[in-house]
Amino acid sequence: ASVVSIDKLTKTYENGFQALKGVDLEIEEGEILALLGPNGAGKTTLISIICGLVNPSTGKVMVGGHDVIRDFRQTRSLIGLVPQELTTDMFETVWNTVTFSRGVYGKKPNPALVESVLKELSLWSKKDNMLRELSGGMKRRVMIAKALAHEPKILFLDEPTAGVDVNLRREMWQVVEKLRETGVTIILTTHYIEEAEEIADRVGVINGGKLLLIEEKAALMKKL
Ligand code: ADP
Ligand code: ADP
Repeated sequence: ASVVSIDKLTKTYENGFQALKGVDLEIEEGEILALLGPNGAGKTTLISIICGLVNPSTGKVMVGGHDVIRDFRQTRSLIGLVPQELTTDMFETVWNTVTFSRGVYGKKPNPALVESVLKELSLWSKKDNMLRELSGGMKRRVMIAKALAHEPKILFLDEPTAGVDVNLRREMWQVVEKLRETGVTIILTTHYIEEAEEIADRVGVINGGKLLLIEEKAALMKKL
């Protein structure tokens, strides 16, 4: 079954700029989809619409069988969004950061879940450290743990390795590979072809507000 279903989606911003020009996309439960494209291609616009943060101009977007506009609360609770920047208090501990972010969704803290997420992401030994004490890679993993702590069906990673060195990029790829086993659907944006090739099941290439879906990664190099 599709966990995200997008039909004839367009987005024209108030200034008249057409950021999405008719996008159709079905995302299957448990898959890893990479959205690849240069700056300004429309990746952030597409993700923002799926997450219910930006309204589409025309077309229909369903998440978990619910309409993203009409059933905003239901669809939002199915989604974990990991932004590009570290949007969290650096003087808070890892444990508190991950545990109390659930409050935003009206959910009670779930210590057992937090423990398993921190162990999964190799952060358990750092649970009492403040975020400011962690390495860059660990800080990024805390942001992922925070998103996973409200048990999303879909996890969005916005440019998870933008501006990081090669070692950290490989570490992040391993984290994504590990998350695959949990069955969560992962959608990530990137402008690195190698990243899309390495970790995604399918790749959507976005350019000028249009989407070209590539089912077979072997075809990726030929098409670009
Ligand atoms: P990407 O994430 O691929 O870099 P975006 O979706 O952020 O692309 O942007 C796509 C295009 O839409 C860009 O040309 C950008 O300048 C434009 N854009 C984004 N947000 C707005 C906005 N609020 N108003 C007008 N244009 C916008
Ligand atoms: P990201 O950096 O993740 O792609 P941003 O939200 O920073 O997304 O913005 C994406 C692009 O959209 C940027 O190039 C920004 O300048 C442009 N943009 C954002 N808001 C507007 C706007 N109101 N009008 C025109 N362009 C915009």
